[in-house]
Amino acid sequence: MKEFCGVFGIYNNPNAAYYTYLGLYALQHRGQESAGIAVTDGKRMTYYRDFGLVSSVFTEEKLQKLTGHVAIGHNRYSTSGASDSPDNIQPIVVSYKYGQMAIAHNGNLVNALELREQLEEEGSIFRGTTDSEVIVHLIVKSKRKKFLEKLIDALVRLKGAYSLLVMTNKKLIAIRDPWGFRPLCMGELDGSPVFASETCAFDLIGAKYVRDVEPGEIVLVENGELKSFRIPVEKVKKSQCIFEFVYFARPDSKIFKRSVYEVRKEFGKKLAQEHPVDADLVIPVPDSGIVPSLGFSQESGIPFEMGLIRNHYVGRTFIKPQQKMRDIGVKVKLNPIPEILKGKRIVVIDDSIVRGTTSRKIVRMLREAGAKEVHMRISSPPTKWPCYFGIDTPTKDQLIASSHSVEEICRYIEADSLGYLSLKGMVEATGGSLEEFCTACFDGRYPLEIPPSVVKQAEKK
Ligand code: SF4
Repeated sequence: MKEFCGVFGIYNNPNAAYYTYLGLYALQHRGQESAGIAVTDGKRMTYYRDFGLVSSVFTEEKLQKLTGHVAIGHNRYSTSGASDSPDNIQPIVVSYKYGQMAIAHNGNLVNALELREQLEEEGSIFRGTTDSEVIVHLIVKSKRKKFLEKLIDALVRLKGAYSLLVMTNKKLIAIRDPWGFRPLCMGELDGSPVFASETCAFDLIGAKYVRDVEPGEIVLVENGELKSFRIPVEKVKKSQCIFEFVYFARPDSKIFKRSVYEVRKEFGKKLAQEHPVDADLVIPVPDSGIVPSLGFSQESGIPFEMGLIRNHYVGRTFIKPQQKMRDIGVKVKLNPIPEILKGKRIVVIDDSIVRGTTSRKIVRMLREAGAKEVHMRISSPPTKWPCYFGIDTPTKDQLIASSHSVEEICRYIEADSLGYLSLKGMVEATGGSLEEFCTACFDGRYPLEIPPSVVKQAEKK
């Protein structure tokens, strides 16, 4: 499961590009394939974007050329790898009749295909394949005069997930879709607003978290003033992505007004209550299994150890081993410590099981390292449905839990026992209610209708 994007924006700061660079650096986990920054000095925009990690895309020299006091930045993960077009790298920057505009988008629109077809029939020409370009065309094509009105014209036509930063030469605007799928936080640095997908970006630059951009809110910053508007659409069910807590967000972030660390630890505690096991050690599958393992250990009294060590320097460019070397795959990422595991009954905690193949390799690896028993515990419910709101998931038929019972999955991954956190337990651990969250990948209750063409397109990937 992969996140699609991270966004960052800053207003009225002489070092806008540098701070955006640092913000993107902190948000690197949300997208590792390309990065970009657009900056304005109030009259003219400059930008730089390329494939690669933030630290390799931007050099001192490149940042120095990005002069201006307002900036937005974007980290992107794309599904089509190196063959992805450079035109899909964000921020998208365009010039049109009324000036320049840059846009950075996190999320997926479920009606992008339909809107794109309509726009193309009306003569629009697209450079890339992103949903975000659809938003740009809708803004540009609006007949309204004022930029905010043009933007609203576009927003009311969008269905799906969008945490959006839009910059003109005079304005910085932060928008969160009415469902609130993806996080978007507002902070303050030296008296000026900053925006980021997660608060870990504020911590790095010394900004203070102020509040979340609310679902359906437009925050406009212009002439040093901040104004809030609503997207004028019918009220919809709040649907914040609960999977952000399970896996995507950094544990040191605060999203949806909660500490990710605390929620994740609570997942582990609930898991220990729901699926207790007689064991000698609790070990995490790093990194996202670490915090729930601490919760599990504290609740159960079973000691916590790091029995698996992760190599952090494995990129997506890693060439897959030949068939006969297959098992090397998971060992490149994770290495067991036999001295910790030998002769022990182990509870191993992971965030999710997608296809089951990695979990099976981990179980085998632990046994080979000497574990006497391996009990797998998962800090989320079985993932049965694909996501259409900005997370790259396999199709339904590739998700093992969509066609196998927990007992069957347990047999497949060759564990001594398997237990998943319940949906109820997961929601309770957030301290909130089902009314606040999207839980569609667990229960198939999509907060909005997914057009068959979108399902078909996802299956073709
Ligand atoms: S389907 Fe799952 S991953 Fe996608 S937004 Fe909903 S909870 Fe998040």
